[in-house]
Amino acid sequence: MEKYYTEYSSVLDALGAAAQDGRRVYRIWDDGCSITITADETEIREACQEWCEGGTWPDGPVVIDVRYQSMYLDHDGEECEGDDAGSVDVEVGENDAPPETACGTEDDDHDWQSPGFLGGCSENPGVWSNGGTTMTFETVCAACGIYRTEIAYGSQRNPGQADTVTYEDADERSRRWAVTQDGGLVDAAIAAYESASGEWEGLNWTQWIGDPDAQISAESYADTDWTDTDAVADVRADVRRKLAAIATEDEDVNDDDLGDIVTAIREYVEQVAADAEEAEREAAEAYDHLRAGRYAKALECAERASSLEHEYGDDPTWGRFLAAVEAVVEFIAE
Ligand SMILES: [Zn+2]
Repeated sequence: MEKYYTEYSSVLDALGAAAQDGRRVYRIWDDGCSITITADETEIREACQEWCEGGTWPDGPVVIDVRYQSMYLDHDGEECEGDDAGSVDVEVGENDAPPETACGTEDDDHDWQSPGFLGGCSENPGVWSNGGTTMTFETVCAACGIYRTEIAYGSQRNPGQADTVTYEDADERSRRWAVTQDGGLVDAAIAAYESASGEWEGLNWTQWIGDPDAQISAESYADTDWTDTDAVADVRADVRRKLAAIATEDEDVNDDDLGDIVTAIREYVEQVAADAEEAEREAAEAYDHLRAGRYAKALECAERASSLEHEYGDDPTWGRFLAAVEAVVEFIAE
């Protein structure tokens, strides 16, 4: 990055440098210290920002009020103030980072929403006025259920007061809600299911949910074409409807059920990922056997890999390899 300013020990030194590069001389300062720099008129705010960011500040976000004033020497060699002056608010220090979840590690990775259970008034759940211009905004991630609380101080903030963001882990209440939302765990599990193939097509979604109360019969989906979006939408709607009933008012279902469902979905997604990895390993091994002419062993590995096959439709290497193995196997069989 281009540096916006150079620091000088006196106005006189700075004027000498300014005469050569056409910049102006400024004094910039905050409550603690001041320096003399040269900068272009259009660069002075960036220079203030850069100077501030280079300092050492306490943890947590703080707003520093940096002031600037152009300077010159009069005929008697006295320092005088020029016609360009102002101030810049510079926010320094980091906010809290969200806990790592399936969504990711950054604030932007989450889908922040304001569901009614957060409280506050019904038109604006999760929003509170704390007096003056200070507001609190609480949101929940619709995918993983963690909480985000932002305190915004508005125009009447105290000097140095920066807006803060803090996070809290998901709890039973937020998970119960998140599991019923678009893009949440249910969608992740269904997406994993949709991408599964071969033997996996015969599996009943409810086996993985593991809850008799959320039954969707195996028979009704046994012949489903999982690439058919309407069918997938039906399953998704069924699962979500059932989960929503559990999460809200179904008295017959106890609170632990939803936790079990979430756990089962997570395990399922993890299982798909683990099997994909295992299949890839078997495939690589089969390929080694194939090259070495150990056709029987290659076939064994390829069959194990095939039985674990998931999500490989998008992987041309995998498809070509399987086709090659099959062709060799047929050739040997003849
Ligand atoms: Zn999230």
